[in-house]
Amino acid sequence: MTKNDSMAPHKSGLDEVAIIGAGFGGLGLAIRMQQQGLNDFVIYERAGDVGGVWRDNVYPGAACDVPSHLYSFSFEPKPDWGRTFGPQQEIFHYLRHCADKYKLRDKIKFNAALSDMVFCEASGVWTLTFADGSRRRARAVVMAIGALNIPQYPAITGVDNFTGKVMHTAEWDKTYSLVGKRVAVIGTGASAIQVIPSIQPKVQSLKVFQRTPPWVMPKFDKPLSLSRQRLYRRWPILQKTVRRLQYLLAESVVPAFMWDSFLTRFGEAMGRRYLRKVVANPVLREKLTPHYAMGCKRVLLSDEYYPALTQDNVSVCVDGIEKIDERAVYTLDGERHEVDAIIFATGFKVPVSGAPIPIRGAGGRLLDKDWAVGSEAYKGMAVSGYPNMLYVMGPNTGPGNTSVIFYIESQINYILKYLKTLRNNRNKYLDLKPMVQREFNADIQQRFIGTTWTSGCNSWYLTKDGKNTTLWPSFSWQYRLTTRHFSAVEYEFLATSNEAPTSESTIAATS
Ligand code: NAP
Repeated sequence: MTKNDSMAPHKSGLDEVAIIGAGFGGLGLAIRMQQQGLNDFVIYERAGDVGGVWRDNVYPGAACDVPSHLYSFSFEPKPDWGRTFGPQQEIFHYLRHCADKYKLRDKIKFNAALSDMVFCEASGVWTLTFADGSRRRARAVVMAIGALNIPQYPAITGVDNFTGKVMHTAEWDKTYSLVGKRVAVIGTGASAIQVIPSIQPKVQSLKVFQRTPPWVMPKFDKPLSLSRQRLYRRWPILQKTVRRLQYLLAESVVPAFMWDSFLTRFGEAMGRRYLRKVVANPVLREKLTPHYAMGCKRVLLSDEYYPALTQDNVSVCVDGIEKIDERAVYTLDGERHEVDAIIFATGFKVPVSGAPIPIRGAGGRLLDKDWAVGSEAYKGMAVSGYPNMLYVMGPNTGPGNTSVIFYIESQINYILKYLKTLRNNRNKYLDLKPMVQREFNADIQQRFIGTTWTSGCNSWYLTKDGKNTTLWPSFSWQYRLTTRHFSAVEYEFLATSNEAPTSESTIAATS
């Protein structure tokens, strides 16, 4: 293959590797592939730019709740982060910078929304169909599609009759002004606690509809001075050290989640103390006090959320929503709350079970069916029966406490080894042995017993049967160790009955 053959997509219609998604996962993998000489790949991105959730979530106050130095690639440090916790715009720019610096844009096909994919055992090749009806073929597919990208609108009676403005935090309309409006925010999760303090000073009144109070801890967010940025630029070791300390701090809370114990009670006491410190009104405080184990749902960080709720133009409604009509939200206590705009901060359709699109693997098996009662994979990446396909941030790889980038980089290391093995076995495809996946997942589920994550609250981490298919049940460094080695004996190397069409040979044949 010549250097130029690597430009996307191949004229032959066959890619060696198709990466789906140009967010942190897809870009990170692409950069590392290039660095290791694996240039024959194409990234398919459904939108018109890179960035994933950091491109899409533009609601006021959108920011990360993991410190910036830790929430960035280890191989692409950014010494000039403007704050301890990166705001959405800055993270989005960081990802665009990565795409530009590593010259990835030529390798990305934008506005290409994958709609289904089918594996052919004879050729060992996936056929990808896109929303516009076009087709591509790829020997290997890496699904870097993320999990939090399909907004969840709750099915509230009458919601469609509302004549005011309706927005979801993940589908924010920047052209709509909230200034002086009467606004309802439904939901009190990670997005809500950011949007509420950001809009509170502008709106006439703000009604927060809370179903379950979150555990909230102070964030200690602050601007990072120019002199500090200069220091990091001059002595990168300092930034690395800060990153390591931030990593250790994040890991230090894991025991309180892994064992629902005195450590958890200690964390809860700290949470209640913080609430007492900020919220003087005992009625409001009681509304905001969680009555479930800390960590069961994501613990939220904010310096501004509780103070915003104490403002005169804010009220917290906890009586449950009965219905919505043309102009108002009605709660179960009979109250009518007339508003001009409703903001749904109600999260995402998280793929705890089922597949995001129809994916047909070996023998025509359907991933949606295989994952009907809960998604599962090996190390969160490979799925038995779906050869040459890997997930980035697949089942049971989500961190509840630390940087997702640490997990992504662990997976990238594994995927690189997998792809090299595939490259060295041209006329074969790799299928994970079913027993390997079964044993791995039995162990994962066993490890959830006694953790706060399965201690009885209602969270998006769980399937409707209570199975946790989203989180890694332990320390992130354990995940790093787990993904360190690629073991060929865990896979079947199956021969294709046709000579596997390589992009090089197809190009040679057609040129
Ligand atoms: P979320 O955590 O799923 O929160 C959704 C909220 O909506 C919850 O408070 C939920 O209440 C409420 N809700 C859902 N249906 C409702 C209904 N019918 N009536 C009333 N309330 C309803 O969603 P999110 O806040 O968008 O966050 C999702 C995830 O995105 C986070 O966990 C995090 O992983 C990620 N995120 C990260 C950041 C960051 O800083 N890194 C920022 C934003 C989001 P219940 O609790 O009762 O279900």
